Amino acid sequence: MQSPEPMNTADFVNDLPTPAVILDKRRLQANCERMAERARRAGVKLRPHLKTAKCAEVAALATAGQFGGITVSTLAELEYFFDAGFRDMTYAVSIAPVKMDRIERLLTKGARIQILLDSMDTLNELAARPGQYDGAVSVLIEIDSGGHRAGVAPNSMQLIALARRIAEEPRLSLEGVLTHAGHSYHAADDAARKEIAIAERDAVVYAAKRIRNAGLECPTVSIGSTPTALTDIPLDGVTEIRPGVYMFFDLSQAQRGVCTIDDIAVSVLTTVIGHHREAGHLLVDAGALALSKDVSANEFEKRIGYGLVCGTDGNLLRGLYVADVHQEHGLVRSVADDLMFEKFPVGSRLRILPNHACMTVAPYREYHVIESGSASLLCWPKTSGW
Ligand code: PLP
Repeated sequence: MQSPEPMNTADFVNDLPTPAVILDKRRLQANCERMAERARRAGVKLRPHLKTAKCAEVAALATAGQFGGITVSTLAELEYFFDAGFRDMTYAVSIAPVKMDRIERLLTKGARIQILLDSMDTLNELAARPGQYDGAVSVLIEIDSGGHRAGVAPNSMQLIALARRIAEEPRLSLEGVLTHAGHSYHAADDAARKEIAIAERDAVVYAAKRIRNAGLECPTVSIGSTPTALTDIPLDGVTEIRPGVYMFFDLSQAQRGVCTIDDIAVSVLTTVIGHHREAGHLLVDAGALALSKDVSANEFEKRIGYGLVCGTDGNLLRGLYVADVHQEHGLVRSVADDLMFEKFPVGSRLRILPNHACMTVAPYREYHVIESGSASLLCWPKTSGW
């Protein structure tokens, strides 16, 4: 994929077709350094989750100084990052056996891919299918550490039954255990977040211990969500962390005290396309598809709506928020209902901070990257779809 010619930073405000995602490279780098430091201090490997960024240039920054492994959530990401030179990848969504053909194609070309499962039915299906890959496929067993989305309980019989069966299958090999404490997104304060982080760690460490006590190997003990990774609990017994959204951060993380608003590295550039003075809102061309309908940042503080509004310099315009979205329309209101329409003429531009960066950036084809001290606006392509 070829990046278009860099655009002058001064021009992007006027010339870039909107909606478009603006990525602040300095903030991105600082966020990556923060997580790298956390992993270093805790003595664990950092296997960044690229489901948020879906971009090789971002992956290069997130893996700088690390062992080079990454986490992905789609086959499209596996293939894209393999083509970009990444070789060690964990596909961290329960495997559907029908997807194995594409995975085996990459394994045959030299990729090292860990797949994930928590079901004996899946395991039976994997064992029965005719494989095109000669080697054994590495498998992680997913553990439920309290999020109740997927995974087996760490104290269950099922865990040991799965572990034994994987170890017995000649075309599979048991790599270890993995969990994701997604419920940390609902932790109201640091103490609650820490409690979930401890439960997340203890669940997989215990699961690994039981597998080893059964006489089996369990080299990988993997945890990861940004809110839990960014606590300071000791990670004894854990081998790697897999956070993802920290690279960009968002209003949802800021609301939970995981970052500040000034750490958020992505925003959506939008154009004012109308004034509806009677109703008290500006219309912008960033609607539900450009911002997503994720309202997670409103859980603990209302009036964030679908995003907070900044000027083109990235500074927050206090009190302005996206109150409603339609497919291609966003409705910007003022909390105090005192919107100064003349300050935002039709055709002018704004930047919107996302509630949940993973959802917002997913459909875009590229990032427009601003770098302090540089006059150029770079374009970094990304992948999307499945
Ligand atoms: N691991 C798994 C399995 C996930 O599903 C996710 C996110 O959904 C992550 C890691 C990364 O978590 P976060 O987005 O909080 O950084």
